[in-house]
Amino acid sequence: MEHIYNINRTKEIVKEHGFKFSKSLGQNFLIDGNILNKIVDGAGITENDNVLEVGPGIGSLTQFLAERAKKVLAVEIDKSLLPILEKTLGSYDNVQVINKDILEVDLNSLIEEHFPNKKPKVVANLPYYVTTPIIMKFLEEKINIESLVVMIQKEVADRMQAAPNTKDYGALSIAVQYYCNPKILFKVPPSVFVPQPKVESTVIKLEVRETPLVVVHDERLFFNIIRDSFSKRRKTLLNALSTGNLKLNKELIRETLNYYNINENIRGEALSIEEFAQICNYIKGNLI
Ligand code: SAM
Repeated sequence: MEHIYNINRTKEIVKEHGFKFSKSLGQNFLIDGNILNKIVDGAGITENDNVLEVGPGIGSLTQFLAERAKKVLAVEIDKSLLPILEKTLGSYDNVQVINKDILEVDLNSLIEEHFPNKKPKVVANLPYYVTTPIIMKFLEEKINIESLVVMIQKEVADRMQAAPNTKDYGALSIAVQYYCNPKILFKVPPSVFVPQPKVESTVIKLEVRETPLVVVHDERLFFNIIRDSFSKRRKTLLNALSTGNLKLNKELIRETLNYYNINENIRGEALSIEEFAQICNYIKGNLI
């Protein structure tokens, strides 16, 4: 079967259908077979795997997935791509495309309906304008998936994998690492896309944990503490938590920090996820 990704083929398909790239939908299509292979390899796709793809575009990545996986379900928001996909992927009987906004879909029902026997792997070259909301939807809603292997903006990938006391460490690092084991796989230059994006990209693998990295007694409180701790990075944790949205009692925060032998002047960026969990659980147990 002829490859879709080839630059001349891609231009031909686009021209034939009078397709107009939408910047606001993050439409940058891959035109490099090497990168496509590396994405599918990185996701560890085998003939027993089910795959959920977000945003198939004209089907360049979908084709590679279809050739390796058992079944591929691709969710595409742009209606004008449907007749194109029908043409480019119509001969693959293990591919199904649905026209939906991934952020509006009931993901659990979708997965139950299409993959009742084996949880899917999510593989995608994500639209950059909604990378974080899409990933966080899968994680926060605890969707039954094995892993996500996604191409995203390099800076966002760096934040997801960051460790304490680095400039990239923040609320996103903690949220992602709470649910997943993140591994940056490789960097991708703008030259392998049509049209070329302005930013560098990274393919990152997020292996979803069976249970979150730390035990927290109140997930809402935990993520609210994280949000307040990083909303003003220059503030000490004591100030950030007492003046942020939660407005926690200063004495209670002091008591918590002393209990764990943590310096009162510490900033959120120096705390590990384990320490945030301890602080959250202590505060939860002592809130009046
Ligand atoms: N997979 C193709 C490739 O690698 O060449 C296209 C990737 S392109 C970066 C992102 C795709 O996601 C586009 O086809 C775009 O229309 C689609 N998209 C954008 N927002 C979406 C959403 N909310 N739900 C589903 N698909 C979306």
